[in-house]
Order: sequence, then C-alpha cells, then structure tokens
Amino acid sequence: MRRKEREIKDLATMEKIIGGSSVCRMGLCDGDRPYVVPMNFGYREGKVYMHCAPEGRKLDVIGKNPHVCLEFEADLQMKYAQEACDFTMYYKSVIAWGRAEVLKEPEEKARGMNVIMGHYTGKEYDFPAQALARIVVIRVDVDEMTGKQNG
Ligand SMILES: Cc1cc2nc3c(=O)[nH]c(=O)nc-3n(C[C@H](O)[C@H](O)[C@H](O)COP(=O)(O)OP(=O)(O)OC[C@H]3O[C@@H](n4cnc5c(N)ncnc54)[C@H](O)[C@@H]3O)c2cc1C
Repeated sequence: MRRKEREIKDLATMEKIIGGSSVCRMGLCDGDRPYVVPMNFGYREGKVYMHCAPEGRKLDVIGKNPHVCLEFEADLQMKYAQEACDFTMYYKSVIAWGRAEVLKEPEEKARGMNVIMGHYTGKEYDFPAQALARIVVIRVDVDEMTGKQNG
C-alpha cells in the first residue's frame, strides 16, 4: 500500500469494518469486462454470504469464473474545507479476495441466510423449505484481505 500509515493489518479491525458496512460490492471477471454488483451480505469467520434470485448475470459469471473481489466500507465522513485541495473523505475500508460457491444443501443455505439476517438485525430466523428453494445463497471463502483507513 502506498500510504503505509493508512494500512490496517489487524484481522479483528478489518472484521470490525466489515461488521460496520451495510453493502458489499462484489467485483467479478466477466471475460475481459469487469462487472461490479452491490449486494447485502453477512460475514462470519472468513466467509461472506449473499443471497439472490436463481438467475442473472452475476450467477452466470460466477459459473464461469468463481474468483471474486469484495469491497466494504464504514464510517464515511466528508471533511469539508475552504480550499478544494483540503477536502478529504474519512473512511475505513476492506478489500477481500476469494472464491464464490453456490450453496446446495438447505441447511447450509439457512445458515448463510442467518449470517446475512444477523448482520442487519442481530437475530436468527426460520426459513421455510419452499422459501429456501426459491433463492440462491452464495458463500465466498476469503483468502486475502487488506484494510485501509483515512482519519
Ligand atoms: C444496496 C444494494 C443492495 C442490494 N442487495 C442485493 C441482495 O442482497 N441480493 C440481490 O440479489 N440483489 C441485491 N441488490 C441488487 C443487485 O445489485 C443486482 O441488481 C441484482 O442482484 C441482480 O444482479 P444480476 O447480476 O443478476 O443482474 P441482472 O438482473 O442479470 O442484470 C443485468 C444487467 O443489469 C444491470 N444491473 C444489474 N444490477 C444493477 C444495479 N444494482 N445497478 C445498476 N445496474 C444494474 C447491469 O448492467 C447488468 O449487466 C442490491 C442493490 C443495492 C444497490
């Protein structure tokens, strides 16, 4: 990282930033054209869970290339100033890389859904089998993460 003083190396701090993020931006490799899609998510122990409809471009791309890059950010604040060059954005962010997998087993899907629901509500829910059958749950196993903060 060019600005070493902004680098976050501690995993717990990076996980806290992820915990404070409301959206995960998932970057995909669609042939020679990048595709970034914003998603709700949940994170637990190095795994990111997302859910979606059973069809669509991101699933098509993941089917061809499961390698993804995820971005999270928290504590955003614009610092206003008199001079344009003195403006800055305070932020904390994490970029992670990993492999996306579409979960097959209903129990795994329900666990993933509860990680997502837990992220936003702090609660666990029951998921009827028919509801689980209608959705796709994606799990990304993170293999690398970097963190950065300004301010
Ligand atoms: C804050 C936020 C949270 C979201 N959370 C979820 C979630 O948890 N689950 C979920 O399934 N979806 C979520 N969405 C919607 C998501 O971003 C996608 O629109 C959706 O998942 C469909 O993606 P797809 O690749 O299947 O696109 P398709 O439906 O196949 O769309 C095809 C084309 O539509 C365009 N497109 C798709 N999505 C967007 C977009 N968001 N903005 C602009 N253009 C777009 C692109 O050009 C894409 O090539 C969220 C969106 C936002 C902004």
